Amino acid sequence: VRIARFSLPDTAADAGAVRFGLVEGEPEQPAAMVVAELSGHPFTPEPQPTGRAWPLDEVRLLAPVLPSKIAAIGRNYADHAKELGNEVPEVPITFLKPSTSVIGPYETIAYPEVSKEVHYEAELAVVIGRLCRQVPRERAKDVILGYTCANDVSARDLQRAEGQWGRAKGFDTFCPLGPWIETDLDLTGASGAGDPIDLAITCTVNDELKQAGRTSQMIRDVAELVAHITEAMTLPPGDVILTGTPAGVGPLQIGDTVSVTIEHIGTLTNRVVSRD
Ligand code: MG
Repeated sequence: VRIARFSLPDTAADAGAVRFGLVEGEPEQPAAMVVAELSGHPFTPEPQPTGRAWPLDEVRLLAPVLPSKIAAIGRNYADHAKELGNEVPEVPITFLKPSTSVIGPYETIAYPEVSKEVHYEAELAVVIGRLCRQVPRERAKDVILGYTCANDVSARDLQRAEGQWGRAKGFDTFCPLGPWIETDLDLTGASGAGDPIDLAITCTVNDELKQAGRTSQMIRDVAELVAHITEAMTLPPGDVILTGTPAGVGPLQIGDTVSVTIEHIGTLTNRVVSRD
């Protein structure tokens, strides 16, 4: 199923309230898609529908989770490491993006004045479903709620200049997430042959194709990344792992519209504005 977080439309008695819901219908027919409200949050085993539903185009989608932290992996696609002149690291490069960098679908990415080189990075995002630590790779599937699209927006000039990546990738609005969490996929390989571990991932800027990769090109797969990160830190429900970006990264300009699309998940679109 697809789990969205959204604010209720003006037609609802409690307009503006934030809820989780199930997105129903086919993306090929967007006008027919609806959001069915759930009671409570989606991390319980059986979230219950409340019986209320709205057309998808009448609600405002929000970031599908509010993570306590975003653990991200650098250089996890060989062709991307190469394009920036880097080797594939012997151990994964792990960094954190702050919770305050998260925005939802159609929210604006604020281009900071201090950077002259802000890049998009299309990434598969793993959403953690239960409190976990020291998860062996065979059990990674058990702690994953689902997957969504992410844009690991990065001030490349600051990343180069500062060595540590915390500021360059940590600006407010530098972690768009969405449009919803797809829970029916298993990219850990735990279910055996036929798993959809090979999903197309693309990035477009103003409808021009910039990145086109496949999740099967990851150097470390999802299960390995869950094991590696939870070896160090506890992940509460809602925390997010960003799994790296394929080749084709490049600059964003103020006024651009950037979209990350992952097969079987959906499309995450944001516009770039100046920070003030
Ligand atoms: Mg990245």
